[in-house]
This record gives sequence, C-alpha cells and structure tokens, in this order.
Amino acid sequence: MNGVANDSNGQANGVKKTSTQLQIIDENQHFTQELSQSMKDEWHLADSGFNYNLVAVFGSQSTGKSTLLNRLFGTNFDVMSESARRQTTKGIWMSRGKDMNVLIMDVEGTDGRERGEDQDFERKSALFSMATSNVIIVNLWEHQVGLYQGANMGLLKTVFEVNLQLFQAARGKEKTLLLFVIRDHVGATPLANLANTLTADLDRIWQSVSKPEGLENCSINDYFDFMFTALPHKLLLPEKFEEEVIKLRERFVNQNHKDFVFKPNYSKRVPADGFHVYAEGIWDQIMSNKDLDLPTQQELLAQYRCDEIATVAFEAFLGKIKGFRQPIEAGKIIEGLGPQMEEIRNTTIKQFDKDASRYHSDVYKRKRNEILNKANSQLHAFYLGQLKNLSKKAITMFNSRIQEKLKGEGYDFAEVVLNARNEVEDYFKKNAESIVLTETDWTYDEEITQLQEGIDEIAAKSRIEETKKMINGLEKAFQAQINEFVTLYFKSPTPDMWTKIVNKFQEVLDKTEQQLLKKAKSFNSSEEENAKSVENLRKRSWQQLRKKIDDELADNMFLLKLRERFEEKFRYDDEGLPKVWKPEDDIDAHFRKSRDDVI
Ligand code: GDP
Ligand code: MG
Repeated sequence: MNGVANDSNGQANGVKKTSTQLQIIDENQHFTQELSQSMKDEWHLADSGFNYNLVAVFGSQSTGKSTLLNRLFGTNFDVMSESARRQTTKGIWMSRGKDMNVLIMDVEGTDGRERGEDQDFERKSALFSMATSNVIIVNLWEHQVGLYQGANMGLLKTVFEVNLQLFQAARGKEKTLLLFVIRDHVGATPLANLANTLTADLDRIWQSVSKPEGLENCSINDYFDFMFTALPHKLLLPEKFEEEVIKLRERFVNQNHKDFVFKPNYSKRVPADGFHVYAEGIWDQIMSNKDLDLPTQQELLAQYRCDEIATVAFEAFLGKIKGFRQPIEAGKIIEGLGPQMEEIRNTTIKQFDKDASRYHSDVYKRKRNEILNKANSQLHAFYLGQLKNLSKKAITMFNSRIQEKLKGEGYDFAEVVLNARNEVEDYFKKNAESIVLTETDWTYDEEITQLQEGIDEIAAKSRIEETKKMINGLEKAFQAQINEFVTLYFKSPTPDMWTKIVNKFQEVLDKTEQQLLKKAKSFNSSEEENAKSVENLRKRSWQQLRKKIDDELADNMFLLKLRERFEEKFRYDDEGLPKVWKPEDDIDAHFRKSRDDVI
C-alpha cells in the first residue's frame, strides 16, 4: 500500500516518510477495507469531527500533479520516474497533509483520453472526488490554456455534469472550489490573462453542459468558486518553484490568508469518523451505476454511524446498570437509585451526542430518541422493582406504627391510623418521586392507589379488632355493674325490687350506649354499624341480666337466701341485734313468725 519513497525533487530514496498513503480505490476499482484504520491509526483524523478538509487533484497524465501534492502537503504519492517514464499505478490514493487536518486525494489516470482509454474511470473518479472534496486542484500546463478542445476541457465538462447531478439541490449554498494551477508558467502572459482565458472557456463548457429541468439558467458560480494560480518550471527554476509552492501552501494552512481555500460552505458535512462509510457508500453507488443522490447518502451514512455509535454507548450503559438487578430482585431499596440512573443514562446520551450529533439531524434525532427510549425502558424495570420494594416497606412500616400505638393507652384509633397513613404515604411518595427520571413519562399513581388499598385493608382489619376490643371492654364493665346491683337487691328483697332492677338496668344500659357511640366516633363507624353495635349490646346486656338473675334464683342459692333471711329474722331482733333468749320467751311462736316471713 505504501508508495515508493522517491521524489523527483531529488530527495533520496529511503527518506523518512512524512505520511503513509493508502490506495483507496485500486486498479480494479475496488474500494479499500483499510480506510477506517488509516483514518484512526495512520492519520489520526477519526476524532476530528468536521474539523478536516479534503483536496483532490485533476489533470492530464504526467503534468506533475503528484509532484505538486508532495511538495505542497508533504505527502509521498508516487511520482513517475524521470528516467524510466513508466506510468504510476492507476487508482485513487489518499494521504494526510503534513501538519494539517487535510486529506489529499491523488487521482491517477483521470485522463483516459490521453491514453486512448475509455472515459469510464475518469467519470467515476470525478464523481467520487466531487462528492467528497472541498477543494479540487485542476492542474494544467500553461500551453494547455486556451486549447478549448483539449483533453482538460473534456475532463472539466465531465466535472460540471457530475457536479450538477450531485449538487442540484445545494445550488448557491454548498460549493466546491476549483483551484487552477498553471504549471511551467513562463511569465510572458500574465496570470490575469490566463485566468480570463480559462474563465471564458469554463463559461463555454458550462453552456454546453445539459442542465436538469428547472436549472436551465443556473450559473456556474452557483456551484463553483474559482481561483487561479501559476507555478514556474520546476526543473528549470527549482528555487522559484519551491518559493511559489511555499506561498501556495499558505492558502491551505493559514486561515487568515485572503485566499484561504477552505471556506465552510465547501464542506461536504461528513464527520471524520464516518468518512470511511460515506466514501465507500459513494463508491458503491458509482460502481453500480445508480444515480448518486447525496442527501440519501448522507442519510444512509447517518443511520449507519448513529447505529454504530449507539451500539457502543448502549453496551457501556448495560455494563453500568448491571449491578442494580440483583439487589432490587432481592427486595432491597437502593439508596440514591434515581440520581444514579439519571447520571448513567445522561452519560450514555452525552456519549452518543458527542459523535452522532454531527450527522444528518433528522436521523440523529430519531436515533437519539431510540437510544433514549431503549435506556429508559431498561431503567424502567428497576424503577418498577424499586417501587414494589418501597410499597412493601411502606406497608410494613404502617403495620408496625399502628401496632406500636395500639399497644399503649388512651389513643384515638382514627388519629393513629391517619398519622401512620400520612407518614408512610409521604415516605413512599418522596422516594418514588426521587427515582422518576427526566425525559420520561413515568408515574406511580397506580402504585400509590395500590398502597392506599393495602393500607385500607390493614386499617379495616385492625378497626374491626379494635371495635371488638372496645365493645368487650364496655360489656365487661356493664356486667360488673349488673352483678353488683342485682346481688344487692337480692340481698334485701323488697316488693318493688323488680321495678328497681329494671330501672337500674336501663340506666346503666343507657350510659353504656352513650359510651359506645362516643368511642365509635374514633373508628369512623357508619350509622348502620353503630345501630348494629347498639342492638348487639342491648341483646347481650339483657342476656347478662337474665343470667345474673337466674344465678341468683338458682335452687340452692335461693334456699341459701331464704335460710339466711330466716336466720336473720329468727336470730336478730327488730333493731338487728342478736336475740338473747329468756326462759319465758315463746320460741315456737317466734320460729313460726320468722318462717312465715321468709315464705
Ligand atoms: P502526474 O502523473 O501528473 O502525477 O505527474 P508526476 O508528478 O508523476 O510527474 C510526471 C513527470 O513530470 C515527472 O517526471 C516529474 O519530474 C515531472 N515534473 C514534475 N513537476 C514538473 C514541473 O513543474 N514541470 C515539468 N516540466 N515537469 C515536472
Ligand atoms: Mg501522479
């Protein structure tokens, strides 16, 4: 691949090469597979984005093109040996200009006419050069100027036709610079005159080019800028030649030069990291004789490169998020998950943007959306997992909060539930919000609803238990009161005893009912539930009363009572003092009276 390191300038063979060169299109018209590698490793231009330019050279065979390029750009293109006069290899060669972000293309065999070959390769290489280069050097001898019918003019006509085919749509916006270099300029005819002659010829050629529909009146200046320069005879005036070449070089490297050649609108807008794809795509189209449509090529290139860039960025992304899966699946809540995910995703998008944003903007935007969505959907799984774990944790928190509070005394159930509910819902919302990423439509409404349902369920269960507990408590107190007063009344029965018992019962029941309704408020019980509780209370309290009375009236109990009563009457006097029996007392009568009293 490397060119022969000799130079007609007299530099010795084996001179340290200034830059490697690559035959990007070989003599069999095959495109190289090494362009990507050369861009990266040989020329170090792959990372230069739009900050590079491309120069190609056209002109008849053996007009000193390669010699000029080597002098101008420090390249090492093959130069026909003066002694052997053998032809250099056909094809398109590429190299990087020394100390400049410029790719140089040396097109060998552009001029088939001189060799009597068909003009197929001439047309193909012209298409290729026009589609890729910012500046085209047209190299010709002074004595060729004005020879309108000459070989150069045929070549130029091809260039114009090809250019119209490629850049119709870019009319007036994107241009290519044609830099005419007139060689072996003797000086008898001033450059300005030569330039005029050439301009007139170019206009005539332009007239003869058939224009696409709608562009019949387009001007040559809509598509091209022109510059003219001349160089002295290299062999006869070597020093002068070198001097002029050094001056000419300034136009390629000095941005402040009045004739700086790389104007922004000459750029073909191909990012350096995609140049190899673009160039090969163009060549494929040319080889298959398809209409070369540059906007389509730009889009294809953008798709290809954006996909490549996205793949690399996405792989790095997958590596970084791997660690989230295991803890989340294990039910853990990852601290700072939101900011971590945001950071990883944004880095990925930034990495993608860095290179991809240079490509066709619609394609870039579409692909950016794709990678963003892909990244988001990966992260969404972690988002959902963390929400699930948060929800579980919130339920556990709620449960333990209310259990803790209900163990104590004097609480208000509704308040306990409300406080615990607020606390865990806040906890959930705060943590859920912290993992919602920007540029997503993620919500947790559904999870909140589910959490609330879970809380409701626990609260309902615990309300039922608490209500039961409360009613049991009331019933116990109630029973204690009944037992007390019934026992009392039975101890010293009176004729209105039953009325008294019933009244007392009603009084206690009313009080208990009031208590029940008051407490029920803190459980948010419904009217219906309250009515039911009251009804139950009434039923159960009546049953309790009945049971107590039954107990009191049980046979043995009752006998015991009668006996107690008899003894009381028999053994104690009316003042309740123990009787002291005297011999004259009528014990029998007294016994009878006491017995009748009891029965
Ligand atoms: P290319 O085929 O156009 O690339 O031409 P080369 O660079 O290979 O040169 C062809 C021959 O022209 C070589 O023998 C060079 O020494 C010779 N040559 C190079 N520069 C000049 C020049 O400025 N004037 C003349 N007369 N000959 C030159
Ligand atoms: Mg050459």
